[in-house]
Amino acid sequence: MGAYDAFKQQVVDTAQRLVAGGYLKGTGGNVSLRVAGHDAFAITPSNYDYTRMVPEDVCVLDWQLHVIEGARKPSIESALHAVVYQARADVNAVLHTHQVYASALALINAPIPALFDEQVRYLGRAVEIIAYAPSGTGLLKNNVRSRVRNGHNAYILKNHGALVLGHDAERAERNVELLEKCALAYLLALCTGRHIDRIPLAVREIAFAQLRKDEKRYQ
Ligand SMILES: [Zn+2]
Repeated sequence: MGAYDAFKQQVVDTAQRLVAGGYLKGTGGNVSLRVAGHDAFAITPSNYDYTRMVPEDVCVLDWQLHVIEGARKPSIESALHAVVYQARADVNAVLHTHQVYASALALINAPIPALFDEQVRYLGRAVEIIAYAPSGTGLLKNNVRSRVRNGHNAYILKNHGALVLGHDAERAERNVELLEKCALAYLLALCTGRHIDRIPLAVREIAFAQLRKDEKRYQ
């Protein structure tokens, strides 16, 4: 068994569960995991059906995006994943989805304020919008690098989709689900045209402090 096999298997399993949950569709989005103990990460290949994917299809790259293992072309968003791992020592899983409700907020440029305790506890003080840049460009990479340092675990990519982080694959998956629940509730609330209440500021800060404590533990 190769040094990366377990990580590659987990990338496939995570991607396929996200497809089953409706968070990834067709070949859109991408999934990566940090390879513990190596300056490397395992990432889904470019433009390849998740339902057919097997561990041999997963690419292992170093931070400069050189291919260490894998015959397929890596995701065009590989640079975006690499900058997150370099900027955030606590993050071991990066999920980029085109999930529908968060994507709807990406179109109306609506960050999600602190609406629920659980949201802040796991995703951060707010789900912010990362400025638009075309997929696979250095500009998008730079926009992501400058934002993820705030310690949040979910971001909306303007006119594109979502970027969700976690200290492991399972937490990142839960964060994708939580983001979608918050995005849908917020969209429905916006549709009423009525005032939208946020959680009290003191509660927000307590919940965010718990998230920051976790992040220190996983560094
Ligand atoms: Zn995308």
